[in-house]
Amino acid sequence: MRKVEYKDTEIAVKKKLGQNFLTDRNITRKIVAASGAGAEENILEIGPGFGALTREIIEVCRAFTVIEKDRRLAEFIRTEYPQLTLIEGDFLDIDLKPLAEEKPLRVLGNIPYSITTPILFKLLEHRHSLVSATLMMQHEVAMRIVAKPGTKEYGILAVQMQASFDVDYLFKVGRKVFRPQPNVDSAVIRMTPKKEERMEDQPGFSRFVRTAFHQRRKTLLNNLKESYNLELVDSNTLTLRAEALSIEDFFKLFSQLRPLSQ
Ligand code: SAH
Repeated sequence: MRKVEYKDTEIAVKKKLGQNFLTDRNITRKIVAASGAGAEENILEIGPGFGALTREIIEVCRAFTVIEKDRRLAEFIRTEYPQLTLIEGDFLDIDLKPLAEEKPLRVLGNIPYSITTPILFKLLEHRHSLVSATLMMQHEVAMRIVAKPGTKEYGILAVQMQASFDVDYLFKVGRKVFRPQPNVDSAVIRMTPKKEERMEDQPGFSRFVRTAFHQRRKTLLNNLKESYNLELVDSNTLTLRAEALSIEDFFKLFSQLRPLSQ
């Protein structure tokens, strides 16, 4: 088993927890600068590990909250950074609302790649509790989040995230700056909840987007006709494939169709 040691703490690296530790200070600095983190903010870091990002965040904000699932790493953080509020647990299980009670959260993290998608959907669900989320993830997933219509990366993830967030691709990070080295490159993106909330019916919208992309090569008509009444929809639109539609087009289409009762 691969071991990583830092300041007298040695851990056996857990692949399942997506443990790839950053070793380049220029990159951690760039992430914190790009996040917009500041002194008076309510910051939450996901997966501090050995504190590569943590120690940069401290430079701009003295006290904040971190959540770490690995017991040994949580212990490391508790000892090394007693001024922080440590939640020892799983980000996917915690309730973000109480943490955001006084001020919305600015989330940062070099997140565990094994659970990138569930983390993204949790942030989507809690977008009203956020100022922004600046996250490092696999490069390939970052590309799928920021993808533009008509490209092969454009799909459910892009539409769902871009419907609720302004997404910015910040920069690419090569695999060499991590220990242990992952098999993929990484990228940092920033997601900022849109000011104007467009969707009153998020679960309905999610279902609609998934249905529209169900079989990518099929037309919208073929993907949607069994689940929705399409009478009010412009017939030209229905001859297109989902990948051709902009986020605006998705909103428009969603407002024109009616779910069929199953
Ligand atoms: N931020 C550090 C570590 C990144 S590795 C750095 O950049 O070096 C990802 C970290 O997330 C690890 O510390 C891992 O233990 C932690 N982690 C994995 N799954 C988690 C979960 N569900 N909730 C909280 N932390 C988690």
